[in-house]
Amino acid sequence: MIIAPWDDEQVRSLNEFQNSGAFHAYTCRAGGAEHAPLVATTLGWRCENCDYQQIWAHQWTTDWSWRDDPAGNWSWREDA
Ligand SMILES: [Zn+2]
Repeated sequence: MIIAPWDDEQVRSLNEFQNSGAFHAYTCRAGGAEHAPLVATTLGWRCENCDYQQIWAHQWTTDWSWRDDPAGNWSWREDA
């Protein structure tokens, strides 16, 4: 896990990851159901629809390595 704060390059990687459509995005689960995709900032994830915050991300989503992996491989790297 990588804990915020993140630098600008990590934020870019995270937000591109969110928009790639090739992976399950980080989402807000406030209210029990998936609420909205989270938006990365240097201080962590923010939900655009509520005040939910999250300060961790998987390392492979912060360093662009997700671009090199097929979508099916992300789950076995969850602990990275
Ligand atoms: Zn939310």
